[in-house]
Amino acid sequence: MPGWSFSEQPSLRRPFVERFPTLRRCQIQTHSVDDFQQFNLIAPLQQAIQDEGYEVPTPIQQQTLPVALEGQDVLGCAQTGTGKTAAFVLPILNHLADNGFKTVANRPLALVLAPTRELAVQIGDSCDAYGRHVEVSHALIYGGVGQDRQVKAVERGVHILIATPGRLIDLIGQEHIYLNRLQIFVLDEADRMLDMGFLPDLKRIIKSLPVRRQSMFFSATMPNSIVKLTDKLLHHPVMVKVDEEHTNVDLIDQRVIFADYRQKKPLLSQLLKAGDVGQAIVFTRTKRGANFVAEYLRRDDIEAVAIHGNKSQTARQQALDSFRADKVRVLVATDLAARGIDVEGVTHIINFELPVEAEGYVHRIGRTGRAGATGIAISLCSPEETSRLQQIERLIGFKLLEDGRTPEPLPESEITKDSDDDAPQSGGRNRRRRRRSGSRAGKPESKVSGKSGKKTKGKGRRGRRGAPTDGDTPQKPS
Ligand code: AMP
Repeated sequence: MPGWSFSEQPSLRRPFVERFPTLRRCQIQTHSVDDFQQFNLIAPLQQAIQDEGYEVPTPIQQQTLPVALEGQDVLGCAQTGTGKTAAFVLPILNHLADNGFKTVANRPLALVLAPTRELAVQIGDSCDAYGRHVEVSHALIYGGVGQDRQVKAVERGVHILIATPGRLIDLIGQEHIYLNRLQIFVLDEADRMLDMGFLPDLKRIIKSLPVRRQSMFFSATMPNSIVKLTDKLLHHPVMVKVDEEHTNVDLIDQRVIFADYRQKKPLLSQLLKAGDVGQAIVFTRTKRGANFVAEYLRRDDIEAVAIHGNKSQTARQQALDSFRADKVRVLVATDLAARGIDVEGVTHIINFELPVEAEGYVHRIGRTGRAGATGIAISLCSPEETSRLQQIERLIGFKLLEDGRTPEPLPESEITKDSDDDAPQSGGRNRRRRRRSGSRAGKPESKVSGKSGKKTKGKGRRGRRGAPTDGDTPQKPS
């Protein structure tokens, strides 16, 4: 394939290939394309990318898209937040739309496997966004809810199935889903799936895939168990790897305020009116929430603008431009809208609501403390959100404490509780215990709490990567 070569870049090749002999046959991506126009994407997908406001492909997209669009297998080493969803969704959409494949009842053409319901939903949202100008359908399959609607969707016939492993196995077992027409298979966040005890399920699913297919495999880490799995799954893959987004959380002073939900808006106003706030990004969980909060702040004479996926591209760009130009002091954003935002000089991040996934917390607070600057991250935590707070604390490795107190690293037993509870014993997706979160709910309200995050070293420790909701026991967003 033109433009491709076996790696001559020792920095990419050495750590992986030397550690894992099984990867020696793997091609390493050394070539990347930094302009969306140069990919062989059909016009409606180019249009969708423009609609999304993406100007340049992210590094994982630059490396993955050319390979994936050629139909080659991909082994991707990348975290969530790097833009990897587009890196695999765009090639799937391109292939299915360009060839005009028709759907057949119960027989999807592409399967994306994700460890959690939340991730599956996000991938579905990406299919909606990137596929808005093409006739390619998708359905979501996950546990914890009745299966009837999902079965009906599959019976109607879908191009892309986005599934968590447990429910997929169930529906295959009940003969609602056949994988014999499958052309593209994606395994997303493989390491997390293994952490969650899905290996037996994965092996069963992989066995039922047709031999001729394109496979793409994404994982943030590459332990031996993952490498073994890639051996079974991938055929002469091209390896793509990007470093995780650099977030200097050490420089961020992280605080929490416990408050009832209804107290949050006045509290937010009060915080934003304090003298030390320069520019702030306020995070809400939903698009509607972002609108309400921005509206409330404006009524309270605080210049604020909402940015989220329901706004037109022009409105989003205008909002961002005025924030960048310091014409608006407060940007109220949802996680997805804010991921790509890189504005220097943001002094405060305020989590109006805690993110559903603990990793989201690190992404959010990474909007401040950029380029070596210090920043302050304040999380408003209502009684209903205490279990999310605990998940965040396990991820970052310390407790968010009360104002002025030194950081307190979590005891090892607290940190590992997460993995003990969420990782089932072999094959035990139904045996998994859900830990009931301890309650901070009864804590006195509205006490400003804070600490400096100097001891933050939480990333990358296996088993500490949040307490994810698996596909079979989903967490309801509050
Ligand atoms: P992901 O890692 O796929 O979850 O993507 C993280 C975020 O990055 C999402 O909010 C995407 O909308 C956004 N994103 C993906 N690709 C790009 C791009 N090329 N430019 C700007 N933002 C992007």
